[in-house]
Amino acid sequence: MTAIEFVQGDITRQSVDAIVNAANSSLLGGGGVDGAIHRRGGPEILAECRKLRAGHYGKGLRTGQAVATTAGRLDARWVIHTVGPVFSRSEDRSELLVSCYRESLRVADELGARTVAFPAVSAGVYGWPMDDAARIAVGTVRDTETAVTEARFVLFDEQAYEAFTAQLR
Ligand code: ADP
Repeated sequence: MTAIEFVQGDITRQSVDAIVNAANSSLLGGGGVDGAIHRRGGPEILAECRKLRAGHYGKGLRTGQAVATTAGRLDARWVIHTVGPVFSRSEDRSELLVSCYRESLRVADELGARTVAFPAVSAGVYGWPMDDAARIAVGTVRDTETAVTEARFVLFDEQAYEAFTAQLR
């Protein structure tokens, strides 16, 4: 059984086995939660991302996929990078957002991570409406079979926190 928890705060301040990053496909850093993770985690994370780009991920990480690196100076063992879909009004991309959470949990299981912190993937610059992002995130984690014992959603602001907690009410 995976316990689902909600915290309002900064994901880079969490003590967990793995922190999920809402990365972009370049894996070379960006704004939002990605920028915050690299800033606080230090250069080791970017160095590993560069190695991934030089190896198996030459074209970058595809939308809906996930891959792990060290967590550098963060209070975690791993960062799991996943690339959320950009929201589209004309095309339903929700399966790709579902895939981000499923693949992140699959990678967590491979690593042996038991506690995992998630941000609201795609709900920032990528424009996903918060309520729908929350529904997909919580529903997918709840319905995915995993050895992860605690999935902690870390929401930056009150609106996101309310949208996520409403999913289990
Ligand atoms: P995306 O490009 O996938 O939309 P963003 O990083 O722009 O990713 O935003 C995803 C969510 O993460 C947004 O709700 C944003 O407010 C939130 N966020 C930004 N910084 C942090 C942080 N340090 N901790 C937790 N959540 C954060």
